[in-house]
Amino acid sequence: MADFRTHTQVAAVLSGGLAGLALFSGLASLPEALFYWAAGTLGGILPDIDSDSSRALRIVFRCLGVMAATLSFITAMPLWPMSAVLGLSMSAYLLVRYLLCQLFAHFSVHRGVLHSLLANLLFTLVAVVLAYHLFQLSAKVAWGIGGFVFIGATIHLLLDELYSVDLAGMRIKQSFGTALKLTDWSEPGWSLLLVLQVAACWWLAPSPQDWQLVLQHHQLWPWAAGSGVMHSLQGLSEWVRQGGTLLMGGF
Ligand SMILES: [Zn+2]
Repeated sequence: MADFRTHTQVAAVLSGGLAGLALFSGLASLPEALFYWAAGTLGGILPDIDSDSSRALRIVFRCLGVMAATLSFITAMPLWPMSAVLGLSMSAYLLVRYLLCQLFAHFSVHRGVLHSLLANLLFTLVAVVLAYHLFQLSAKVAWGIGGFVFIGATIHLLLDELYSVDLAGMRIKQSFGTALKLTDWSEPGWSLLLVLQVAACWWLAPSPQDWQLVLQHHQLWPWAAGSGVMHSLQGLSEWVRQGGTLLMGGF
């Protein structure tokens, strides 16, 4: 399987490219594109949170801890004195970062059910729900973030699968087929739990309809249409078509 550095680098480059495309095609503003980039990069490490000693596990639970601390701070600030608010925030962070993290590590199995496309769908929907309800972002941006989490996490699975093919020795390692899978069929109970969580998050998530409308009515690549790039592409396709006709006529 690919290591942590490879996962973060590949996810950062690919999701950065896609976020750039969203920006230049007018589908995202600069702050939105930056959110998408971060979401895609984080998505790139998510499938490895089931590895108990992994950096991915620590990073994800640190982020969740900061979120819990911020939420406690915002909620308690108007009601409690500052010292109590700070104490609560600190406790929330420690609780999530250490206790929840330990519990999670205890119950998860590496390359188990969380290293699958079904889990990627859950990561996506959890990101959408958090972005929409906790950070109060619009439904469109929340789904954009979710989409990038899915892309990042799926790139992760594909990379692990690629690394299980030893091209130099032309052989397939034993791990082939364990990375990119729909779910872990040997854990039916956990798979069912994941399906139920996906359903619950889908119910909590806003409608993705905004993206449907945007994609239907938005003129993609307006810069290309105005700059003659489209014209050149049309010319190229015409040239290829004519070449093909000439070749066919020769036979
Ligand atoms: Zn992995």
